[in-house]
Amino acid sequence: MLIGCHGLVWSGSFGPQDLVRVVEQTRSAGFNLLELPLLDPDSFDLEGAREILTGSGLTITASLGQGADTDPLSEDTGAVDRAVAKLTRVVDILADLGSTHLVGVLYSQLAKYLEPASAAARARAVSTIRQTADHAATKGITVGLEVVNRYETNLFNTAREALVFLDEVDRENVGIHLDTYHMNIEEPNMVAPVLEAAERLVYVHIGESHRGYLGSGTVDFPSFFEALARTEYEGPIVFESFSNAVVDEQLSRTLAVWRNMWSDSLDLGAHAHRFISDHLHAARHTL
Ligand code: MN
Repeated sequence: MLIGCHGLVWSGSFGPQDLVRVVEQTRSAGFNLLELPLLDPDSFDLEGAREILTGSGLTITASLGQGADTDPLSEDTGAVDRAVAKLTRVVDILADLGSTHLVGVLYSQLAKYLEPASAAARARAVSTIRQTADHAATKGITVGLEVVNRYETNLFNTAREALVFLDEVDRENVGIHLDTYHMNIEEPNMVAPVLEAAERLVYVHIGESHRGYLGSGTVDFPSFFEALARTEYEGPIVFESFSNAVVDEQLSRTLAVWRNMWSDSLDLGAHAHRFISDHLHAARHTL
């Protein structure tokens, strides 16, 4: 199985020198996949990263949430155009790195909206994701739309709502990306959404209720992993955790990472890899 780790567990920046350490720590914690936050693809040193990442033995994926200047839901058509351009650029970077998955909040600004999404805004998001999906399809890349809580988007907050949006997008290489942290806020339980989305589930984030050490919060992980096993999910499973000990100026503020949840990345990551592996193992034997 692909069991991965979000880059912000290791570092707030991803230049070539950082990446050498990030790759080494990802591997030493036991993971075989690294998810890069590519919120600002223009600042990413692709030339410098290519050799380090393609020779790393790790599967590479990328995630991002949109900023205000690239919000697909915006009435400003310039922002929508910039969203499409940014997503196109990230697809090209991923193709260059031999990656297969682009995920995250690609369809919306990662922010608390003060009103519901209008029909026009929704249509702009559908168009943005269609254009991204069509470009990604030419590169063999799957697009995962992350379902996040109400404080981070107004377009959809549950797997059921995301499935409706997915039908509107109507592209085969677009699927659902579930995250246990967000599910724990918005879903009725940790099983039904997985069963409902099973046919379209392409990516999973494993996060605790406070985004710290797995098992030290309130997320019902045994039920979630049992649902994954029941549906025979075989896609990437990626650990995501945030602390003010490792900071990305943009992402940490957007996600309201204000307090210290951990300071030893390697201890956290190795623990998370064991936790995920153990739960997967146990879930298979629960069936
Ligand atoms: Mn997530």
